[in-house]
Amino acid sequence: MTRAENAPRKNVRKGNAPADEKFVRAECPRTVAEAPGFCLFFFFPRFSFFPGFRFSPFPFSQFFVFIRFDPESVNALKDIFTILAKDPRCEGRLGRVRTFRGEFDTPMFMPVGTKASVKALDPFDLKNLGAKIILSNTYHLMLRPGEELVRDLGGLHRFMGWDDPILTDSGGFQIFSLKDSTKIGEEGATFRSCYDGTSFSFSPERAIEVQNALGSDIMMCLDECLAYPAGRSEAEASAERTLRWAERSYEVWDENGPQILFGIAQGGFHHDLREKSARDIGSVGFPGHAAGGLALGEPKEMMLEAIEASFEGLPPDKPRYLMGLGTPLDILDGIRLGADMFDCVLPTRNARNGQFFTRRGKLNIANARHGTADLPPEEGCGCHTCRNFSRAYLRHLFRQREPLFMRLATIHNLHFYLTLVENARTALQNGDFLCYYSEFGDAYGRGET
Ligand SMILES: [Zn+2]
Repeated sequence: MTRAENAPRKNVRKGNAPADEKFVRAECPRTVAEAPGFCLFFFFPRFSFFPGFRFSPFPFSQFFVFIRFDPESVNALKDIFTILAKDPRCEGRLGRVRTFRGEFDTPMFMPVGTKASVKALDPFDLKNLGAKIILSNTYHLMLRPGEELVRDLGGLHRFMGWDDPILTDSGGFQIFSLKDSTKIGEEGATFRSCYDGTSFSFSPERAIEVQNALGSDIMMCLDECLAYPAGRSEAEASAERTLRWAERSYEVWDENGPQILFGIAQGGFHHDLREKSARDIGSVGFPGHAAGGLALGEPKEMMLEAIEASFEGLPPDKPRYLMGLGTPLDILDGIRLGADMFDCVLPTRNARNGQFFTRRGKLNIANARHGTADLPPEEGCGCHTCRNFSRAYLRHLFRQREPLFMRLATIHNLHFYLTLVENARTALQNGDFLCYYSEFGDAYGRGET
């Protein structure tokens, strides 16, 4: 693993299983096949007498088992990012992120499945849409149904029937947005459950513990999320606490296990604080980083400056995740500035409210002029919804509150977002991202179709 020189030394933790034992416990056979040095015989039944050695009734498999536990192969999972191409005229880059359950190309959009469900869709829909990684939420799953139940039922992937990568947000954003019931101290935060008012305490260590139980592929550190606007001294103190919490998270992270940990840079909307926070978080040694505290209602220019400041401080050779962004234009701006990963509730939430994203702007299906339109929501779109259903039918479903509407609208909107980043990857590969950026912006800016 590549680690910054000033990264703190990790303590030797009691009770840590060796790396190979972690792999013995891992349940996803596909991951076994994809990790470096793994054998092709992964689907044969195997069993373990003691950590580090596994035996198979098939002699060839035994040979490969020794290759599988090469420590260098295990550590290679920490070096998770490869830049495949850089656009010569902006900061955009085409990359590839490797996780324990497979890899995905970047820039990538992650559909949001807060409560272990991307609302209105099941994993088969998501696979058909081409989603490669989804996002879920530690805070909500800790409260309902509880991380222990998820762990006991085989982990989050098995629980929700999704075997590709999952990123779990730490829950910091949710906790800090419950201002009235949250108390923040150096140790962590205490808050009341949004479900039944029960009091909980949460800390950086607890956030990792819950995400360990969930078994997500990419975990996020607990960070302190500032509200907008915030004063300079408040932003400075918050960024420093976020750094201390990041270091504590790093200490309890099992870097030889299958789960990746991302640090989160904060710093409010002060350029120097943003850059310093990013530099500090970037020096801890995480395999990837995020910029948090964005898209909170600040002017767009302010948001873009904060992204630039964050990226000036973060290591350029590791993946950069812009949390909570955003509109299609926000995402293209983020890509132009060098971001690799995105998540946002807009495509799924707006779908349920009757709004379709199209290349020529947003379409509100409730509009009376769609009542007799024998047209797809977006002409030329290849999604399941546009290939099979008219605006008139979709408007009827929406007005009658038919559950089918949510599914069909969500399919189109996620197809739109996933195609947006797929086209961006193609443009980055060809070195003409700025052409794509301006052509998309011109067409999308025309307003409602
Ligand atoms: Zn469509």
